[in-house]
Amino acid sequence: MVKAYYPDSLEAALLARRNDPGARIVAGGTDFMVAKPPADSAIFVASVPVLSDVKLTDGPRGPVLGIGACATYSDLENNPLVPAMLRDCVSQIAAPGIRNAGTIGGNACNASPAGDALPVLYALSARVRLASLAPDGSVARREIPIGEFILGVRKIALGPAEILESILLGADAWSNGTITSYRKIGARNAQAISKLSFAATFRAESGRVARFTAAFGSVGATTVRAEDIEARWIGASVADFTSAAREIRSAYEGRIKPIDDQRSTAKYRKAACLNLLEDFVRNGAAL
Ligand SMILES: Cc1cc2nc3c(=O)[nH]c(=O)nc-3n(C[C@H](O)[C@H](O)[C@H](O)COP(=O)(O)OP(=O)(O)OC[C@H]3O[C@@H](n4cnc5c(N)ncnc54)[C@H](O)[C@@H]3O)c2cc1C
Repeated sequence: MVKAYYPDSLEAALLARRNDPGARIVAGGTDFMVAKPPADSAIFVASVPVLSDVKLTDGPRGPVLGIGACATYSDLENNPLVPAMLRDCVSQIAAPGIRNAGTIGGNACNASPAGDALPVLYALSARVRLASLAPDGSVARREIPIGEFILGVRKIALGPAEILESILLGADAWSNGTITSYRKIGARNAQAISKLSFAATFRAESGRVARFTAAFGSVGATTVRAEDIEARWIGASVADFTSAAREIRSAYEGRIKPIDDQRSTAKYRKAACLNLLEDFVRNGAAL
């Protein structure tokens, strides 16, 4: 029989985590229910109300959207505070039943190469907030970029006493005229694991590139984002950027290294990713 904890506060969840380090954290349970081997004990974190909050707050560099780790896809799909690209992405995940239970935090912590929310979080330069219990019983927190949290297939930088509390999105990544694009390519429009996915952002200020990010899912152990390539174009004129679409595509050639599997071929995945990128640079950014 599984020992179950149903904490009603973050502190209680963290206490259960500290006292029973072998217990599995369960949010919506949509990945957990198919996990092997089953756990002997489980902490059901979705019972902590604060973990489902979606709130805009002021940060040192402008407004920040904090998305509680246990916010479900359905919670996010129709919330106007949530960036359009993320709403678009979650509305394409699975079917309503899974979207009512599956959480964004579960998607990040599951760290599947095909996790659909991940490319969007990378393109939006998301940070994760991890909570643990300090010796005095208060909540201690640390924040790291999503790319430092996800270490590999099903590998995350979560300490043994930590819980993912929230995902933080600086509004600068998607507001003030930023153009965003999300594309999922699967075998069909619903109930399909991605063959590949693509998320990108672009913003121009005074005719120059002020933001450019591109992230690719299902084409490597972790989401692919090449910040060095992006950085080269910051400050360039928009005309130079859009007319360099072919050159930018070539720069990503060596970065996207997919594999053949039951869902697709490496050749198709790579070509489709590069086509989506080139189209975004040439046409999306020129809008
Ligand atoms: C039929 C079906 C269709 C699916 N379709 C898609 C799809 O189209 N796209 C897609 O990306 N995924 C899909 N999934 C996978 C799954 O629904 C998602 O990955 C979902 O986001 C997982 O969230 P969850 O809350 O259910 O996670 P859970 O199963 O509760 O947990 C997943 C993992 O994260 C850990 N975890 C959860 N929350 C926390 C936390 N706050 N802190 C620390 N660790 C935590 C758990 O310990 C576990 O290891 C599908 C699953 C099913 C069953």
